[in-house]
Amino acid sequence: MADAQKNRQVLLVSRPEGEASTDNFRLVETPLLPLREGELRVRNHYLSLDPYMRGRMSDAKSYAAPQALNEVMIGGTVGEVVESRNPKFKVGDNVVGMYGWQEYGTSDGTGLYAVDTTHVPLSAYLGPVGMPGVTAWYGLNRIIEPKAGDTVAVSAASGAVGSVVGQLAKAAGCRVIGIAGGAEKCRYVVETLGFDACIDYKAGHLYDELKAAAPDDIDGYFENVGGEVLDAVLPRMNAHGRIALCGMISGYDGKPLPLQAPRILLTQRLKLQGFIVSEHMELWPQALKELGERVATKKLIYRETIAQGLENAPEAFLGLLRGKNFGKQLVKLI
Ligand code: NDP
Repeated sequence: MADAQKNRQVLLVSRPEGEASTDNFRLVETPLLPLREGELRVRNHYLSLDPYMRGRMSDAKSYAAPQALNEVMIGGTVGEVVESRNPKFKVGDNVVGMYGWQEYGTSDGTGLYAVDTTHVPLSAYLGPVGMPGVTAWYGLNRIIEPKAGDTVAVSAASGAVGSVVGQLAKAAGCRVIGIAGGAEKCRYVVETLGFDACIDYKAGHLYDELKAAAPDDIDGYFENVGGEVLDAVLPRMNAHGRIALCGMISGYDGKPLPLQAPRILLTQRLKLQGFIVSEHMELWPQALKELGERVATKKLIYRETIAQGLENAPEAFLGLLRGKNFGKQLVKLI
């Protein structure tokens, strides 16, 4: 643990060529300066590790600016206010913010919000009741628009976003098929999360198993992975199906994806829509309220993989890109 006067931070010091590595990051210690009027200081308890961070490590053209070199890596955090010269926050408040990969955050409070941990654990505000939860909610409700009786499929089904997609689709009365890497993840998706079926894409029979698991084919597909998984799902889509193109993680880490066959989009008259959840901030309060109630009443189940200590954040992040996480990947900082 850091002593009270020091902060520890992880900086991005180089951009990956090919796959990312721990050499792209550096752990540094910096002094904590006295607060100025209007500032507050937060001891971060958890850091969220998310796939989008791989995109920020690169300076390729994207929807967001690249992470600047030699600065603290971007990231969502939850923690407790430990000092405040800002009238909107008091010592002891639990807050969600974007302080990045560091143990303490100091700011004027912009973008920070206080949360109630009576019924929802603090870490869940980085998972099902945070950005990944809203992502699931948005893609499912606003793009797929599920109706009772529809068949909905989701890839990376045991993960932070996919696990919420499937449970919300079940609650909407759909038949839900998950796709995940490995038998253990698939067992969890069916037995604990309540999906109707889950296919282990690593077993090598995805197309045939999809056919068996979704005899009426697929009306809504929530895509998190891309590549071969998308290629296997597209031919199983029903006419006028809807695809929420959320992420394509199989192509993030130095392995650009080949172009997908667009012919099926035409012949099946599919609607495929990409989205970036941070461009729909007006819907977050509604989504977070619903997700928070579901977590508080145990109707939404989630799982976390927690790395211990900021020094282990780079390794845990690389693990996330390779499917080593099982549920929401966090780093415990205290
Ligand atoms: P997860 O918790 O699902 O973790 C990532 C998972 O992706 C891994 O556990 C692994 O699961 C799977 N994966 C990793 N590499 C590969 C690969 N090469 N091929 C197939 N699967 C792979 O992450 P999130 O739930 O946080 O994110 C899921 C997706 O949602 C990502 O693509 C992310 O970029 C996207 N996203 C998009 C947002 C938006 O606004 N559009 C916002 C938030 C997330 P398995 O072992 O099952 O393969």
